[in-house]
Amino acid sequence: MNDAVSSPPSPASAAASPRRITQAVSIGEIKVGGGHPVVVQSMTNTDTADIASSVRQVAELWRAGSELVRLTVNNPESAAAIPRIREKLDMMGVPVPLIGDFHYNGHQLLAGEPACAQALAKYRINPGNVGFGKKRDTQFAQLIEFAIQYGKPVRIGANWGSLDQSLAAQLMDENAKRADPWDAGHVLREALIRSALDSAERAVEIGLPRDRIVLSAKVSGVQELIAVYRDLAQRSDFALHLGLTEAGIGSKGIVASSAALAVLLQEGIGDTIRISLTPEPGQSRTQEVIVAQELLQTTGQRAFTPMVTACPGCGRTTSEFFQELAKVVQEHVRGRMPEWKISHPGAENMTLAVMGCVVNGPGESRHANIGISLPGTGEAPAAPVFVDGEKSVTLRGENIAQEFVALIDNYVETRYARSAG
Ligand code: SF4
Repeated sequence: MNDAVSSPPSPASAAASPRRITQAVSIGEIKVGGGHPVVVQSMTNTDTADIASSVRQVAELWRAGSELVRLTVNNPESAAAIPRIREKLDMMGVPVPLIGDFHYNGHQLLAGEPACAQALAKYRINPGNVGFGKKRDTQFAQLIEFAIQYGKPVRIGANWGSLDQSLAAQLMDENAKRADPWDAGHVLREALIRSALDSAERAVEIGLPRDRIVLSAKVSGVQELIAVYRDLAQRSDFALHLGLTEAGIGSKGIVASSAALAVLLQEGIGDTIRISLTPEPGQSRTQEVIVAQELLQTTGQRAFTPMVTACPGCGRTTSEFFQELAKVVQEHVRGRMPEWKISHPGAENMTLAVMGCVVNGPGESRHANIGISLPGTGEAPAAPVFVDGEKSVTLRGENIAQEFVALIDNYVETRYARSAG
């Protein structure tokens, strides 16, 4: 029998691999892992002790869609600020769970400020920064005991930039004795993974349930991150927090984070994500939340806000109008989404198209729920609008943007209205 011609290859699937099933961790009201949707989180860059600024930024991140927000807790002032930040957020109707980020002195801060230990919904512990020498194990145990006492989950977050040096040295020594030694990069990746896994097992021995542990092992290189998380996912069932650490500023940070996280999410790896962008001067911190949402939405993991398909434009586009229209439409639907989420559930799945000419305009517009094909060079000054694949109206004149936006609002009103009762 000739196997080569016996059966055609299966068509490639257009969906991501099934999610890896991990422990389900409750962080306040938010569930991470266990097959729950991938959770978006972010981190403030205010001085936590500056209560007004921190409250403002946490609320802003939450309104942008961050489901968990982490704050640095690095000194007694910031630890004392946490319960007051929680109180003010509750008064404002901002229920987002707060995560405390501890390094070096977390055991002292939690001991000194019980209200902080109580107000936080999760503690982040970096096993490479928990203490030095003999104190490391004791201080790690103290942090875990606080988590047990207050009923909180922890993220054991190892980081390439603060790798446990004694573990790295031990693995280097072991590697030197191998018949076929690994390269240095492999040994360092193993040290990072072991730091996270061994610390998690130690926390379990101390008494923290497995479903109160989230793991991360962050590096700043795309290929290294993919390799580390594939390994981590194979070697444990802990919920995983994904993020490319120190991703960078501007498009570089966005591209590098998306490249790394998209591969892992496609393989079903990852339960919560953070995009560690360095904001451009004057830029809102919320950009990292929008990028995280767009990454999850464009890869088909979750829907947050209607997405606009727009062509890049070329010599056939007559003006910048279509670029402006694409921007106006995306900003309009993003701005309306918090209200639609409640009044018109499902609107986040709506697809829109803003196209620059007849070449791909009508075709792409027909694929969207609502699409508009603007006139290119030499075309009649008319913009046909397509609704659910059918040509609906043709817009002309000065008010195309307002009329198209009104058509979108009307579509949401009729298609996604919450049914009575
Ligand atoms: S749809 Fe038309 S304007 Fe847009 S990129 Fe294609 S050819 Fe150019």
